[in-house]
Amino acid sequence: MVEGRGTKIMIKRRKTKTVKIGSVKMGGRYPVSIQSMTKTDTASGAIRQINALEKAGCEIVRVAVKDMSALSALKKIRAKTNIPLVADIHFNYRLGLEAIACGVDCLRLNPGNIYRREEVRRIAQAAGKRRIPIRVGVNSGSLRTTNYELRTIKIETLMVKAALDYIKMLESFDFYDIIVSMKASDVSATINAYRKMSRLSSYPFHLGVTATGSGREGLIKSAIGIGSLLLEGIGDTVRVSLTGSPQEEVKAAKEILQALGLRRFDPEIIACPTCGRCQVDLLRIVKDVNDKLNTIKAEVRPAKVAIMGCEVNGPGEARDADIGVACGKRSAVLFERGKVIRRIKESQIVDTVIREITSKEREDALV
Ligand code: SF4
Repeated sequence: MVEGRGTKIMIKRRKTKTVKIGSVKMGGRYPVSIQSMTKTDTASGAIRQINALEKAGCEIVRVAVKDMSALSALKKIRAKTNIPLVADIHFNYRLGLEAIACGVDCLRLNPGNIYRREEVRRIAQAAGKRRIPIRVGVNSGSLRTTNYELRTIKIETLMVKAALDYIKMLESFDFYDIIVSMKASDVSATINAYRKMSRLSSYPFHLGVTATGSGREGLIKSAIGIGSLLLEGIGDTVRVSLTGSPQEEVKAAKEILQALGLRRFDPEIIACPTCGRCQVDLLRIVKDVNDKLNTIKAEVRPAKVAIMGCEVNGPGEARDADIGVACGKRSAVLFERGKVIRRIKESQIVDTVIREITSKEREDALV
């Protein structure tokens, strides 16, 4: 169960085995972690991007290892970064063996293109020796299946079968350090696959909807797919796949987790949409608060902040937040942790809210 102030969001996380990628533990007892993937050629620019990702709050980074040049880059990346590192391996199992030797913290294998028993056995053996996990990363775009099966069997069923078969193969080599993902570009198929798998396996899940596209479309698909599963307690680490910068993926993942009350990273601003009852310039006030918060993030602790337009829903939301303002005619009532503090003028709202969030005394009280 996760509790927010005033409201209680009941999310009962699915119980899973615990798996560790570098220093990040995942499974039902641990916070849902955030991952992303570098988008530069691994041989050039990846270290800069990894540093930027880490700064944005990314906790695990995946890099594509597509050939030998990426492998030599991987050694440098490992030497110059500390973030838990996942090597993304397709087609050539030897790249997986070499990546393990480079010191990565996890391999992602695709059952659609590395599936020969002896090859998988050799990787499992090497990963087992280094005690690093393997993510069984099924993707609807690279399923090993026939056209007939694709026409007659649901994609989620094919994905679950592919993951289960691969898990069985790894287990037959006494390898149990497994994370599972089954990503489709179709949101419903993705949700159904994870739901089904949650009843069949106790390995932790890496959640994501694949190839969602860019901008609003990608964000909405990801938020629905990942968010629906998390609400059901399913999912242990997330990657929001966007056709955009990886830092945007991290930002979106944080916002999904924060919206569900699973983790808190930044102040959460609750603001009403405004209507004809509103007698202050609420849009400007909310924008100014957000702009100021963006410039002082390092000094701000996560808090729930309500900025509401009038007396209809304002006092209720403001009282329920850590800091709240319920506006009236060119003025507002300031609340702190449920108590009325004082009335302030419209022109004082932005500075007052920022001061309340950043004040040292308040910080201690809010956490
Ligand atoms: S809180 Fe008041 S101003 Fe805001 S949308 Fe509701 S009724 Fe309108």
